[in-house]
Amino acid sequence: MPETVQESAGHWQRDLANAVRSADVLLERLGLTAEQFQSAATGTHRLAPGPFASEETLRQFPVLVPESFLRRMVHGDPADPLLRQVLPLSDEDQTADGFVSDAVGDLQARRGPGVLQKYAGRVLLITTGACAIHCRYCFRRDYPYVDEPRRLEEWSSSIALIAEDTSIHEVILSGGDPLMLNDGRLETLCRQLDQIEHIERIRFHTRLPIVLPSRVTDGLIRLLQSLRAQPIVVVHSNHASELMSDCAEAVKRLSRSGFPVLNQAVLLRGVNDSVEAQEALSRRLLQLGVMPYYLHQLDRVSGTRHFEVPEADGLEIHRRLREVLPGYGVPRYVREIPGRKSKTELPDE
Ligand SMILES: *Cc1c(COP(=O)(O)O)cnc(C)c1O
Ligand code: SF4
Repeated sequence: MPETVQESAGHWQRDLANAVRSADVLLERLGLTAEQFQSAATGTHRLAPGPFASEETLRQFPVLVPESFLRRMVHGDPADPLLRQVLPLSDEDQTADGFVSDAVGDLQARRGPGVLQKYAGRVLLITTGACAIHCRYCFRRDYPYVDEPRRLEEWSSSIALIAEDTSIHEVILSGGDPLMLNDGRLETLCRQLDQIEHIERIRFHTRLPIVLPSRVTDGLIRLLQSLRAQPIVVVHSNHASELMSDCAEAVKRLSRSGFPVLNQAVLLRGVNDSVEAQEALSRRLLQLGVMPYYLHQLDRVSGTRHFEVPEADGLEIHRRLREVLPGYGVPRYVREIPGRKSKTELPDE
């Protein structure tokens, strides 16, 4: 008998409650030991004794990994590309020149409570600070989410701002992750935006279909299909191994539901910094009906230097990708430079 929507709606919240919240548990579940992790960090700034981040870093940005994502890691492999995205190494405690807390100029772009505008015609809403996973390279890991609206009533001034500005044609729901809102709150927000005539598109920037596939419920798909504005879903997957089992099913359901699904990835050292990894990612995305959109050069946020791939290496990977993939399978390689009118395609000439 098919599940009722009500039942499936509860699953993802339960899955989230059961997520792994410590590096020790993560390693234990994968049959790994702390000794298998060498950190590139030198002794001088070392805050924690082992290979893992200090307690202070973990208090600010704790480990969070849903079971579904964990199940897609290879048991016993310390270099697993999924594990590398969520394992808090002591490198995070390192300060480095040029790596700052607001690397992308978000705070200068704030137009109102929870509203960022950097580019013409589109605004981005910080709908929540919550995510279902904590990616250690996150560009908004230091964003002051507590200052942004929490309850729906607090959105009214931002919705009014969007309603008054007829130059805005697209609203991007971001965060955190907008699909962390429950269906009721998400629907209320979407309906309010949908009533604004000059809003032609509502875009969802979400990693939940990748890391917590149970979030892709019938109710969610029906909500998107019922919007007057064109929904566009932009997922965030960095490696072909993420796009397996329950995640592959969820992503395919989205792409077959009649709205565009795009992917953005971040170029990450030790995760996807090879032609092979990028080609496999694009091919897997295309197989699931998802168009590769952006490959982001890492934003220089404090504590993420160990993930950085030199731009010259990224350019070489990108050049070779164009030789092995169809044009539509090659993501745009971009970097965010504060103050520009769009993301900057690399090379920046
Ligand atoms: C990246 C970003 C967007 C989206 O840019 P597109 O090129 O339209 O994908 C919009 N607003 C902000 C603040 C952004 O950082
Ligand atoms: S899902 Fe996105 S916003 Fe959330 S931790 Fe990962 S990179 Fe950051």
